[in-house]
Amino acid sequence: MWGGPALGTSTCAVCSQPITRGIEFELDFGPARRLFMHGPCFFAWDGERRDAGGAGRPERAP
Ligand SMILES: [Zn+2]
Repeated sequence: MWGGPALGTSTCAVCSQPITRGIEFELDFGPARRLFMHGPCFFAWDGERRDAGGAGRPERAP
């Protein structure tokens, strides 16, 4: 996992909005499997993932 200043080129995997400001998190699940999230969205997603027992699936219906 990587976090840094938003570059403005990524779309949040949680809320589907462009990440244009603040901190963006990059989660690398493999060569063709990268997700970007806003900082707050990442923490919300990560909390839900832990609540669900650790088998996290970041995809969700809007
Ligand atoms: Zn977001």
